[in-house]
Amino acid sequence: MKCALVGVGQAGGKVATALATFDTRMEFGAIRSALAVNTATADLQPLPLDTVLIGQDRVDGHGVGGDNELGAEVMESDLPEVMDALDDKITSETEAVFVIAGLGGGTGSGGAPVLVRRLKRIYNVPIYAIGILPGQDEGALYQANAGRSLKTVAREADSLLLVDNDAWVESGESLQEGFDTINKHIAQRLGLLLAAGEAVEGVGESVVDSSEVINTLATGGISALGYGAAASGETAEDNINTVTSTTRSAMFTGMSLPGATKADTALLVVAGRPETISRKGVERSRRWLEEETGSMEVRGGDFPLDTDRIASLILLGGVEQSDRLERFIERAREAVEIAKEERADPAKAFDNEAIEDLF
Ligand code: GDP
Repeated sequence: MKCALVGVGQAGGKVATALATFDTRMEFGAIRSALAVNTATADLQPLPLDTVLIGQDRVDGHGVGGDNELGAEVMESDLPEVMDALDDKITSETEAVFVIAGLGGGTGSGGAPVLVRRLKRIYNVPIYAIGILPGQDEGALYQANAGRSLKTVAREADSLLLVDNDAWVESGESLQEGFDTINKHIAQRLGLLLAAGEAVEGVGESVVDSSEVINTLATGGISALGYGAAASGETAEDNINTVTSTTRSAMFTGMSLPGATKADTALLVVAGRPETISRKGVERSRRWLEEETGSMEVRGGDFPLDTDRIASLILLGGVEQSDRLERFIERAREAVEIAKEERADPAKAFDNEAIEDLF
């Protein structure tokens, strides 16, 4: 799928860079262009991408802190610059645009929904968002920001693909240390999905193409991506169980939104050397996915790749019913309530007779 990426905010810029780097290294050629947008000069400088600094008149290159309302405002007022920079990046060959942001911060959280809305009005291709959910241990401000951003961007985008920051972190790593690992995982997994249909030689009947991704996401709402991989056997016959077990692990331990199993639509992409992909394994896995997701719309396809592994990628569309999402929304709601109470009466903090007013 030929796509353009726009990373908004710090996480957005870093993930866009990781994706573009992976795509170049693998010589897939799916990512045709990438742009990073931020209010903080220091976050843009290290990125090897074209960049646009927004909100200079308001924050002078210093970022918006965690203020996502300000993030939304500066994006709105500097949209002409951003759209200008995208003009030659979104072309007639572009099949989809991905706007990437950490939902818990300020610039990406506020800016991404505004940018997605504008892109949808101007361009005739699907505009998807990739939203990074704050980990459970991140503070109330992150949760509250992410709740509001998620609600808005899910409404505006053709689909919002969620990656929970707790999902792909490796044990023993703090979240901060883990960012690079998580970004690499996102780049590899999403990068493979986007490359499906590109860079494929000897296209056969069962090879997946970009329309399968687009049709799977056409259900709208929230989507999630799962990944599982294992060493391949010599022949397809050896790999019946490899395909079914990597598919299960993509669903149960490799999902970007853990616990997302009920879905409206699903796509199973099995990557590996064509002669090692077991048709029987793929068929069983697709039937299993139908049962597991409760979806009647399960698509499938191969991704021929010169590797000694078998990988299963599962894209789920319409996963709003997941437990993890419900728990997150509950936490975000509480955080918004707390923030409102605190804002409503700042004097409450000094509700103490031992401290006298000055006058
Ligand atoms: P912004 O620059 O104001 O948009 O804020 P950030 O992009 O730093 O957003 C903060 C949120 O993104 C927090 O929930 C962080 O956990 C997360 N985050 C920040 N940097 C990264 C990163 O490099 N990778 C990932 N996966 N998450 C990040």
